Amino acid sequence: MTKRLKITLIVIILLILGSFLIRGAATNKIEVHFLDVGQADSTFILLPNQKTMLIDGGNNNDGSFLVDYIKEIREPEINKIDYLVGTHPHADHIGGLDTVINEFEIGKIYLPRVNHNTKTYEDLLIAIDKKGMKIATARAGTVIFSNNSINLEGTILSPKLNYYDELNNNSVVLRLVYGDRAFLFAGDAEAEVEAELVNSGLNLQADILKVGHHGSRTSTTVPFLEAVSPQSAFISVGDNNYGHPAAEVINRLKNRNVKIYRADQQGTVILTSDGNEIKYDKKEMTYEKEEEINGVYISYLSLKDEEIIIKNNTEDTVDLSNWKLVSEKAGQEYIFPAGTKLPASGQIKIISGRGVKADPPEILLWSNAYIWNNDGDPAALYNSSDQLISRYPEE
Ligand SMILES: [Zn+2]
Repeated sequence: MTKRLKITLIVIILLILGSFLIRGAATNKIEVHFLDVGQADSTFILLPNQKTMLIDGGNNNDGSFLVDYIKEIREPEINKIDYLVGTHPHADHIGGLDTVINEFEIGKIYLPRVNHNTKTYEDLLIAIDKKGMKIATARAGTVIFSNNSINLEGTILSPKLNYYDELNNNSVVLRLVYGDRAFLFAGDAEAEVEAELVNSGLNLQADILKVGHHGSRTSTTVPFLEAVSPQSAFISVGDNNYGHPAAEVINRLKNRNVKIYRADQQGTVILTSDGNEIKYDKKEMTYEKEEEINGVYISYLSLKDEEIIIKNNTEDTVDLSNWKLVSEKAGQEYIFPAGTKLPASGQIKIISGRGVKADPPEILLWSNAYIWNNDGDPAALYNSSDQLISRYPEE
């Protein structure tokens, strides 16, 4: 071998080694992979210090997909999950975790301390046991990791130790901070826990929200959403018969200009952040902008909160005297009182249900009975000549 060839070979070897070292070293970036596991949930996180975290593992048959996916993220291949979190024992969250535990070295496993008698959950407990590992109880206040020098922290906000009857409400809710950015993973927590969190005074603010319970109307309440105040929301959803994601959740997000990503539309989405800027590898959902509707229209309906909002996107006040609002499924009618005016660019809210009070002219009371059918109930607005003006949802 000539001297020149030797030097060339050495240089090539050094370059290859160097590239491995660089790829394996700290990148100062966090990567959050919102994985498309259909109507289930799983998020993989590569922390800036190259430690790894997996929150939920999809359904039973998602295990091998997760293993392959994680191994292909970078070179050298990831062989350890440092922090494994099962938000709650439902099969669509912990189903694939046994396979993950069998295939990777695992640092620590966090689960809420609740029982669930299913084969899938038992499989998980057996896999943990076989590995000779113990479960760390996931509870409010647990700091999973904390590194002050790079402002990196993962903290469990819920559940408290007084557990709920509803398994979803025992979900691990986790807030991850890196630099100036925060991520909130809500598991399948529902309104009850959201209210508790809002009232707790804990810092819920997050740039990115992993929406609770697959976008179900039981979660993502307005006060919670206002406390989190996200720029983007991820909904882990696939084909389902539950009506996920609920139209009112989508509307609440849209009304606050939150970018929406859905696993069934965008597939897996990868975010990277240096602690300041956040980059997305996909485009968010596009929805028709409300401003493009010219006229009077129903802009919002919450069947559960019994609220409906009518907007006037014209430059004139509109007289709503004797206009009619109809709950199509429940078959009830509300006639606007004579003299009801909807100002230009204004809105009016019509509420119903026990204990609620009118506050005219912005808030009108339909009835102190419950009007809307929670299983789905389109609203229709007619003018005083009985012409259909707007329907919600539009068809
Ligand atoms: Zn779920």
